Amino acid sequence: MNPTSLFTVALGLQAPWGVADVAFDRPAGRIDFQVAFTPGARFACPHCGAEHQPVHDTQEREWRHLNFFQFEAYIHAKVPRVRCEACAKTTQIAVPWARANSGFTQLMEALIVTLCQAMPIRQVAQLLGVGDMRLGRTLDYYGLCYVLCGQGVRSLWFPGDPGPASPPRWQRGSMLGAGGLRVDKAWMSQATVGTSRGQLAWVSGC
Ligand SMILES: [Zn+2]
Repeated sequence: MNPTSLFTVALGLQAPWGVADVAFDRPAGRIDFQVAFTPGARFACPHCGAEHQPVHDTQEREWRHLNFFQFEAYIHAKVPRVRCEACAKTTQIAVPWARANSGFTQLMEALIVTLCQAMPIRQVAQLLGVGDMRLGRTLDYYGLCYVLCGQGVRSLWFPGDPGPASPPRWQRGSMLGAGGLRVDKAWMSQATVGTSRGQLAWVSGC
């Protein structure tokens, strides 16, 4: 099995998608996979579902994937738009490894959501080498409630989860700290009392 076939299997890709090229940059600490569809492949129209529509054009995209050991991994692909013969619309297809409008693969998003429930968001951002605002957009999509701020607070819950018995205590003027905390209206007012608005960098959910 050659490296591209090996990585096609490792990434869980299926026809017509496969790894066409692998670039390993050791000094930069990254591995880049060029993923491509078989030339001449046809795709279902995302708009009306008509099968076997021809590719109209492609758009180059990049997604951050799970690290391969200490190396950051990226998937690159030319994502096709199909021009549908049934509904006459031109629409970009969904790739099997990522949801629309995400710069992360689905596996990477699963890791982010898991880590952010156990660690401060800023720590996760440092660990993965990803900006915390980008992490926040993923948490937004999955409906997680959190506050992104200076340093320290680390809890994060899904809406509807009970959360801790009592909310964390803050003193006026203290730093709230990095990470997520559950935000409902009562907690939000405490957070606002406990710190300056400037430290509450980003509030989401609930
Ligand atoms: Zn169509």
